[in-house]
Amino acid sequence: MEQITKLVEQQKAFFYTGKPKELEFRLECIQKLKDAVKRYEPDILNALKKDLNKSEKEAYMTEIATVFEECNYMLKNLRSWSKPQKVRTALTQKGARNYIYREPYGVSLIIGPWNYPFMLVILPLIGALAAGNCAILKPSEIAPHVSRLVAQMIEGIFNQEHVAVVEGGVDTSTTLLNAPVDFIFFTGSEAVGKIVMEAAAKRLTPLVLELGGKSPCIIDEDANLELAAKRIIWGKLLNAGQTCVAPDYLLVHERIKNDLLKRMKETIRDFYGEEPIENPNYGRIVNEKHFERLTRFLTNGDIVLGGKVDKEKLLISPTILDRVSWDDPVMKEEIFGPILPVLTFTQLNEAIERVRMLPKPLALYYFSESEDKQRKIIESLPFGGGCMNDTIIHMASPYLPFGGVGTSGMGRYRGKSSYQCFSYEKSILKQTTRFDIPFRYPTVKNGLKWL
Ligand code: NAD
Repeated sequence: MEQITKLVEQQKAFFYTGKPKELEFRLECIQKLKDAVKRYEPDILNALKKDLNKSEKEAYMTEIATVFEECNYMLKNLRSWSKPQKVRTALTQKGARNYIYREPYGVSLIIGPWNYPFMLVILPLIGALAAGNCAILKPSEIAPHVSRLVAQMIEGIFNQEHVAVVEGGVDTSTTLLNAPVDFIFFTGSEAVGKIVMEAAAKRLTPLVLELGGKSPCIIDEDANLELAAKRIIWGKLLNAGQTCVAPDYLLVHERIKNDLLKRMKETIRDFYGEEPIENPNYGRIVNEKHFERLTRFLTNGDIVLGGKVDKEKLLISPTILDRVSWDDPVMKEEIFGPILPVLTFTQLNEAIERVRMLPKPLALYYFSESEDKQRKIIESLPFGGGCMNDTIIHMASPYLPFGGVGTSGMGRYRGKSSYQCFSYEKSILKQTTRFDIPFRYPTVKNGLKWL
């Protein structure tokens, strides 16, 4: 605790020098971070292979390219966002000028998960730097190679008093949460999200929670099934289903279910071959605990594809479960693995009612050719974000704010939202001293008084 308290104090002292807030310094830091990611690219890919068996293509696309895009977006726009914004003056404030300044919080604590262990600490860091904060990163101990690498990379480019990495597990995380940081950005599970929020409540520390949950994927009878099959399977099997926004379960129109199942089976074979668990590019489950948790779901419903496991290598083949009921264990928690339960509906309203009965999801996907029905889904269901006729890729854009609602999280980041998320609005009224309007004072003598 002592060391962490000292680190927070050092960062606060550096923050109050004003340096992290200087625009040129912020731009320089983001450029430095981008250059370091470029230099470390092979090491990042290597660490991701060791921790999660991510293929180079997938790792680059999901963990590195997104970071470059975010850096570029910040470098391009930060100058214009950083100007104080002049706003209108109320009638009662005649003579004054009003401005909104964006202020960094100070020392930001960023706690990351293991599933995209690089991207999910570096993207928030870009936001923290863009807004002018100091930052302490706590990567996930469950992806130890990436955690080590993030620490090395950050130590190589930043002073501790500006950006530091503290490695460790639950104890370290708890100690950090008890330290007097000025802002908390947490990505992880709903259960730990509650612990983080409780810790933040003790000091009323502002926070953002990026959590998870069961993201539904609804496929209507008029969907383009060939594309739907490809896009669902791609999204579900990315990182072996260990993605916060992965389609968790399918809600398929009864009339097209068999056709979709057939196409999804073909797609899995096209993407990963006859025996996906023998494909070196197929991701593995992160650890034994999660492997055991997932294999218990294999007794739910009927396995229509997959169901093979390799305990030694922590592999579970892409598995489709048909005739699953809403009461099965697989429908009671976020799956976070390559297992896809299939449920059906006959009327869209019935699907909407069903989804409304579950906690508000982080993402929702809907496949249909009808703009009207797409609008109905968007307007009638609560969820953080999602895609019409695709899965997952909404989170690859710095132009779309990312986050959940209710149990799937609170707050938004990415692009301009990241800059806003790591700063607060400071409202300033600059009053004139050329004249004074005395109406507000208890005793009114003359009207307008020139000074
Ligand atoms: P987790 O909540 O177990 O761990 C996240 C971080 O919290 C880790 O750094 C861990 O060390 C720390 N931690 C764990 N237990 C703690 C405790 N008791 N007190 C304090 N800190 C603690 O999550 P995970 O298993 O790493 O990640 C999977 C979860 O994260 C899934 O629910 C997934 O949906 C969610 N997730 C969300 C997003 C998003 O952007 N919304 C992204 C990725 C993952």
